[in-house]
Amino acid sequence: MKSTDSTSLERPGSLLARLRRRGLRLTAQRRVIAQALEEAGVHLTADEVFERAVARLPELSRATVYNTLNQLRALGEICEISLDDGPRRYDPNVTERHQHLVCDSCGTVRDVIPSGDVSLPEDQQHGFVINEVQVIFRGLCPACAKPSRP
Ligand SMILES: [Zn+2]
Ligand SMILES: [Zn+2]
Repeated sequence: MKSTDSTSLERPGSLLARLRRRGLRLTAQRRVIAQALEEAGVHLTADEVFERAVARLPELSRATVYNTLNQLRALGEICEISLDDGPRRYDPNVTERHQHLVCDSCGTVRDVIPSGDVSLPEDQQHGFVINEVQVIFRGLCPACAKPSRP
């Protein structure tokens, strides 16, 4: 494995490493967008990706961020999650099957790996070919669950 311009973000399986393996040209734009997605640890909206990425690459435009997110999604390297009527969020974790834990109050999204099986029994598939499973666990994060007045 080449270690040219490797950063701590470029571990095997990371979004940047996957894009590189795919032979996608890692333009500065793609690089800062991938970094923004990965380092957040939570799933960002397109606007949040833009805010983080533009801090590194001031000439980045919002349209480029939107286009790149769409492109990465079309390639299957990130997935889009929409929760209720909130803005769509982008998830770079497509290599590890996981579900989401969402705070109903502040909207924070975390990756979780449920115990047990979340697949559908065959008699419940109604002839569908199941492409993906999304399960959302909802609740309050520790910060929001804290009573404001003890
Ligand atoms: Zn919260
Ligand atoms: Zn996720």
